[in-house]
Amino acid sequence: MNSFSNKFRSKNLGKISSVIFDVIVIGGGITGAGIAHDASSRGLKVALIEKNDFASGTSSKSTKLIHGGLRYLQNFQFNQVRITARERKILHRNIPHLVKPQDIVIPVYRHNNLSMLKLSVGLSFYEFLGSVSKGDRHRKLNRDELISLIPNINTSGLIGGFIYKEYKTNDSRLVIETLKEAYRSSAQIFNYLECTEIKKDEDQYQLTCVDRLNHQNYIFAAKVVVNAGGPWVDDVRSIEEKDSKSKLILSKGVHVVFKKADFPLDTAVYFEHTDSRLIFCVPTSSHVYVGTTDTFYSGSKEEVKTSKDDIDYLINAVNNSFLNSDLKVSHVRSFWAGLRPLIKKDGKSPGELSRKDEIYISNKGMITIAGGKLTGFRKMAENVVDLIFKKHFKTRVFVKSKTEDLTYFSSGYGKSTLSQIIQNQKEISDSVLIDLFEKYGNNILEVLEIYKKGHSIIDSEIIYTIQNEMMALPSDFLMRRTQNLYYPEVANGLLWNKCSELLEKEGVHFSEASKQDLKQVNRYLDFPNNIRKSNSD
Ligand SMILES: Cc1cc2nc3c(=O)[nH]c(=O)nc-3n(C[C@H](O)[C@H](O)[C@H](O)COP(=O)(O)OP(=O)(O)OC[C@H]3O[C@@H](n4cnc5c(N)ncnc54)[C@H](O)[C@@H]3O)c2cc1C
Repeated sequence: MNSFSNKFRSKNLGKISSVIFDVIVIGGGITGAGIAHDASSRGLKVALIEKNDFASGTSSKSTKLIHGGLRYLQNFQFNQVRITARERKILHRNIPHLVKPQDIVIPVYRHNNLSMLKLSVGLSFYEFLGSVSKGDRHRKLNRDELISLIPNINTSGLIGGFIYKEYKTNDSRLVIETLKEAYRSSAQIFNYLECTEIKKDEDQYQLTCVDRLNHQNYIFAAKVVVNAGGPWVDDVRSIEEKDSKSKLILSKGVHVVFKKADFPLDTAVYFEHTDSRLIFCVPTSSHVYVGTTDTFYSGSKEEVKTSKDDIDYLINAVNNSFLNSDLKVSHVRSFWAGLRPLIKKDGKSPGELSRKDEIYISNKGMITIAGGKLTGFRKMAENVVDLIFKKHFKTRVFVKSKTEDLTYFSSGYGKSTLSQIIQNQKEISDSVLIDLFEKYGNNILEVLEIYKKGHSIIDSEIIYTIQNEMMALPSDFLMRRTQNLYYPEVANGLLWNKCSELLEKEGVHFSEASKQDLKQVNRYLDFPNNIRKSNSD
């Protein structure tokens, strides 16, 4: 089997016309990746196409928490919370290097909507729904205990609070690792391949797809088509049926990133903003990210604009809630903005709309899955593939989903532990090894093999992702194989050149797309400056 690399793109695409797939998945975010994995691991012949890079839509712009959604209990979405709260454990068991426990502190103030009593009942119910084991349950904190955990928390009106457990992930890597699992089960997977036409003759679909790197058209044939287009699901539906009515409404969510030196925080905090919305502050090793906003959005889906109001809203949240915090736009190191595809309901605000997933079947039979959460992707995929078997493959033996008990290859193979790797690699610092392990799991060993051939660590990572993770353009590495670009102290524009150079050396070069990619990265790097310039500080 060739490796999961764009080095073999033309050859692999060239073979497509001779295949009739059981299932084609449109969309390489977490929803599509999960479906491709579930379906291929049940023995179906699967293809997945993604018009940009994998995870370039919402799935690299989340709060990066694997959580049941404590706040959705307020909207009585009990079943949804139960499913996602249980998924946390499954994902942690199957992909431990990417889904890791994260303590979260909730401070409670006299003026808050959420009282100690309400929260205590809510957390107990949440943990009951999620079958959380005794040792992992929440703990009540008195005022002093809370201050000792978060010394810079605003103390005015502070009563106490709670500490409880969720899980933290790296969203885009979760997508990549899930796609790699699907590929290991023989799914054919392509990024930068856009579906532009969907036709159905008798019981077979024909999809016209445009290669956005080489500008060629390819025809895919399949028995079943699944639309997992995230914020674009309505667009994909209208490719199949021109007059299809829109099902979605989009809400924008922005996160901003600060250096820890400017906003010192070592424990994640979940607190009420002045408008009673709940905001997360999540520390990484060097930065803290804060989010999110939740406002209806109707602008460009390709480039989601972040406004000064979005940034000010999040800065004010921190300044109001932390002592001696005088953050300004100039402290914002970077940001990301994603779109929540929510199911429309008249008269509801974005925060009130359900995060539950919905499945629609078109007149011709295309399956669309919309809404949902990153956390629920495995279960959503299981439901979709069950439906495919029941509706389209009635004559075949029904194969049950296997993903609940499938350890990801990167979490299982070789079974080296991080401490063994650290012991064997004396010349590389522990923090670098930890960072690599958190991204690549046991595939760190392959990155280190490249390093042993005389490359620097960063070059080894880039080469590894070109050879094994379908990297085609520099931003694929900077924003999705890693998320280095969001932490400008880690990566800057110079790294773009290095990626470009190594791509060319590895024989993966798309000159026109590469020029566009540089423009996009520069626009991104410039954007905080534009915000700073327009601010009066
Ligand atoms: C601000 C924010 C914070 C969030 N935080 C969390 C969180 O902490 N935890 C959690 O569980 N969930 C969270 N979510 C929700 C979660 O991120 C989304 O539910 C999830 O990422 C949606 O994934 P998706 O695959 O459906 O969509 P996407 O990731 O957007 O993927 C859809 C893909 O389809 C592709 N596509 C579209 N049209 C075509 C076409 N014609 N041909 C080929 N490809 C096409 C797009 O390019 C895109 O990559 C958050 C969401 C937002 C916006």
